[in-house]
Amino acid sequence: MKKTFFLRLFGGYALIVLALGILVLIFSHAFEKKFHLKTLVQGLEDLGTTIQPEVIRLYEGENFGQLDSYVKDLGEKINTRISVIDLKGKVVADSDSNPKEMENHRYRPEIIRAYSGKTGKSVRFSRTVKEKMLYIGIPLIINGEISGVLRLSLYFEEINLWFSNLRRNISLIVLSLIILSLFVSYVLSRNISKPIRKLREAAQKTASGEMNIQVLIKEKGELKELAESFNSMTERLSQLFDDLNAQKEQLMCILQTMEEGLVTLDNTGRIIFCNDRFKTIINNSSPEGQFYWEFIRISEFKTIFAKSKKERKTQIEEIVLDEKVFLCSANYLETRHEIVITFHEITTEKNLEKIKKDFVVNVSHELRTPLTSIKGYLETIEGLDETQKQYLDTAKRNTERLISIVKDLLLISEIESDEFKIKKQDVNIKDLLLRVIKIFKPSVEQKKLKLEIDLEKNMPEIKGDPFKLEQVFINLIDNAVKYTEEGTIRIQAKKTNSNIEISVKDTGIGIPEQDLPRIFERFYVVDKSRSKTVGGTGLGLSIVKHIIHLHKGTIKVESKPGQGTAFCISLPL
Ligand code: ADP
Repeated sequence: MKKTFFLRLFGGYALIVLALGILVLIFSHAFEKKFHLKTLVQGLEDLGTTIQPEVIRLYEGENFGQLDSYVKDLGEKINTRISVIDLKGKVVADSDSNPKEMENHRYRPEIIRAYSGKTGKSVRFSRTVKEKMLYIGIPLIINGEISGVLRLSLYFEEINLWFSNLRRNISLIVLSLIILSLFVSYVLSRNISKPIRKLREAAQKTASGEMNIQVLIKEKGELKELAESFNSMTERLSQLFDDLNAQKEQLMCILQTMEEGLVTLDNTGRIIFCNDRFKTIINNSSPEGQFYWEFIRISEFKTIFAKSKKERKTQIEEIVLDEKVFLCSANYLETRHEIVITFHEITTEKNLEKIKKDFVVNVSHELRTPLTSIKGYLETIEGLDETQKQYLDTAKRNTERLISIVKDLLLISEIESDEFKIKKQDVNIKDLLLRVIKIFKPSVEQKKLKLEIDLEKNMPEIKGDPFKLEQVFINLIDNAVKYTEEGTIRIQAKKTNSNIEISVKDTGIGIPEQDLPRIFERFYVVDKSRSKTVGGTGLGLSIVKHIIHLHKGTIKVESKPGQGTAFCISLPL
């Protein structure tokens, strides 16, 4: 049976009441018996004292016949056995028997005690009347001397009858008290447990999802306060659930109507949730519960999932599904160990980008030949006066700038195209750098700049495209020369554990801090007018960055305006 609060409380009360009842019964019986025996002895003693003068009178005059009649008469009236015994133990009068037929009483305990002058008391079996009796022996003192004993006795059967009556009455009272106490305990336990039961039932209902539960408790006190707190708690909970449901609905609505496909996968790759757009992408109306590879079999997606699971970081990758291009972003949910992947379709953007790139390549191709031809013709012009020469120089400079933009555009289009792959071969970086530096010797000397070259001996060769790497250092050293008016250009190369590190440092004008993050962007120039005069296109560093990334290397820049710039490249061995 389930031990409810009521059962515990009532059980506890009942146990205490029963234990107390039993204890009361046991102690009251023991106490009653002792007390009553004492009262009886006292009663017999008082009776003895009352009849003593008459007994002494008849005993002194040796009127034993009269004495016997007196005790028989009195004994019958008061239902008490009365005997008179002389100093030799002979019974001279007895209310219940013939004294002549009675044996000597000298050695009865109460008589022996009475002979010594004190009141004797004994409970024992009477051989005369064949019953258990209570005896009291009172010494008869005549002229200051003990002359005999007056003995008063009560039948134990009567005493027991009285006792059992008393015991029955006490038991009845105790029993009634127990029943009354149990009833009171029952009512009390019920009253205390009722609000608790109400609260328990309400809590159970709340736990099973019923939120509009209220507990009403009339009795004032802590339980009423508890019920009130419970009510305000359920009210608040219900409010929170409503808000949560509204938010959930809103979120679901957003997720279902969003342009992007969205899928949540568990750690094993099983689809937990997905929106309608995702279903359209994979062409399946109920993929929930199935594994993603049943719908998406391309290896790039597998890689995104595996990387996101392993590294627990956002992974972004382009994937192609049914000739559509998607930008996939995978995010790991640490708390739930789930992976949320969104599919943003970029097919149109990709196509546009391709059209743009194709356009740039085509225009560049178309411009290259006429520009080279213009340059050739300009170089042949002679016999001009000073002003005309100035115009010709401007025309030459701008043509060269156009040719260099076209060259850079063609190069950037080439290395940015998806099909482009670097043609790797063994490259000796030291030889490559010396070749490039040679190209810039005249311009360095012309600007009266100092050139410091510090190339570590016996640097191992790296795998790379020598022409593209040459382009990198041409661009960097060209910038260093272009943007330095006085001071030094320092080119260093050394081998570290698993890389070759090359740095190009100058003491030129430097780059303002806010421009540093943008200098690798296409067409980004810090100072437009300056770039124009030095013949910059804003494409140089963008090409550098691309080529370095194609070689799985890194490039860093440090610069302080007015102090100089340092580009550091690290290429893996
Ligand atoms: P540009 O052809 O104009 O030099 P780049 O892409 O090579 O284009 O460089 C982008 C911009 O970065 C330049 O306009 C220039 O302001 C700045 N820059 C590049 N290298 C240096 C340098 N060594 N010192 C100062 N500024 C530089």
